[in-house]
Amino acid sequence: MTPTLQNSAISTKRTSAPIAEAVPSPADRPAAEISLTTIVANYQALQSLCPSAEVSAVVKADAYGHGAAQTASALFENGCRTFFVAYPHEGVDVREAVGDDADIYVFHGVSEQTLHDVAAAALRPVCNTLDDIKFWKTSQLNQGFALHFDTGMNRLGIRVEDVEAVKALCQDQMPALVMSHLAQADRSDSELNDKQLELFKSVAADFPSARKSLSSTGGIYLGDDYHFDLVRPGIGLYGGGPAYPPSIKLTPALTLTAPILSVFDLKAGDPVGYGSTFTARTDMTVATVALGYADGYLRSASNYGFGVLKGTPCPVLGRVSMDLTTIDVSDLETRPKTGDRIEFIGPKAGLEIQAEALGTLGYELTSRLGGRICKNWRTLGD
Ligand SMILES: *Cc1c(COP(=O)(O)O)cnc(C)c1O
Repeated sequence: MTPTLQNSAISTKRTSAPIAEAVPSPADRPAAEISLTTIVANYQALQSLCPSAEVSAVVKADAYGHGAAQTASALFENGCRTFFVAYPHEGVDVREAVGDDADIYVFHGVSEQTLHDVAAAALRPVCNTLDDIKFWKTSQLNQGFALHFDTGMNRLGIRVEDVEAVKALCQDQMPALVMSHLAQADRSDSELNDKQLELFKSVAADFPSARKSLSSTGGIYLGDDYHFDLVRPGIGLYGGGPAYPPSIKLTPALTLTAPILSVFDLKAGDPVGYGSTFTARTDMTVATVALGYADGYLRSASNYGFGVLKGTPCPVLGRVSMDLTTIDVSDLETRPKTGDRIEFIGPKAGLEIQAEALGTLGYELTSRLGGRICKNWRTLGD
């Protein structure tokens, strides 16, 4: 096997924080401002809920659109020592950002193609099948690995019936971590949570030397029983996800704004956009904004999404197109101007509220923010 060399210069020493200097975003483009200070505060709030467990950080999919290297680096600086990604190439980026002194687990595990990266960046694969464990054994690497058991979600993970076969395979190298994942972590009244908890306890007991992990963000809110040694929040770090308990407060870390390209008046009866799916019922003032589905502002926002300007909600009118969205600015006290920036996600346009208007969740909205959006990372005081 000749492993493909994807990243030959993986630094093993942490040189400097990879946070780019905040460059002002071009005024004519959509922009996302990401507060690393907020992500760290959210991390600390989650830690306060599980004092006896280590809090890791799930930074897959470019930290749900928040920048994996920047997020991991800021959290590492503030004590986080375990990270989860979906793919080895994501793990390589995180390793470069945080240096040697952290465990980086790869949910999708390792394959022949990615073995080189996994070895070079000292990543820990999560084994989701018996074949994954066998492959890991043939690699002869011993930097640690995880076992992921499926305890009832029926998505990915080793079937619990196979636990004896797993034990036999793991005799010469025990897993560093045994994990499972809850299907209904966002529901505190779910019977499936109790079932998964009991099943997880029983399979995990077969691997006494391994650390145990069951909960993502929602599971943290289910209480101590669900925390084990390590919790794996993703969305909570970014300030979204299921309702959090009253003892903490999480804040969305990302603010998405887009500039107005044109402001004009409509007469009653005038249609708006492709397919003319909106027709003005009265005279009104509208603004067209530089933001579209190519930027990740989903087409399902058509006639449902909203922007906010100076605290006033401005509903989306008609279809969202690839680069443009038209909004109703009739309710504003003063007529907005070209170049004014409309908030679509942020302190006024709540992430989960916007996401719900689009028929989705905060997870999908931030992780799909497109490549044309200028991202800027800030820490308090910048
Ligand atoms: C994505 C993921 C998480 C993080 O989930 P959140 O709901 O974002 O906290 C944890 N564990 C696994 C296995 C995941 O796939």
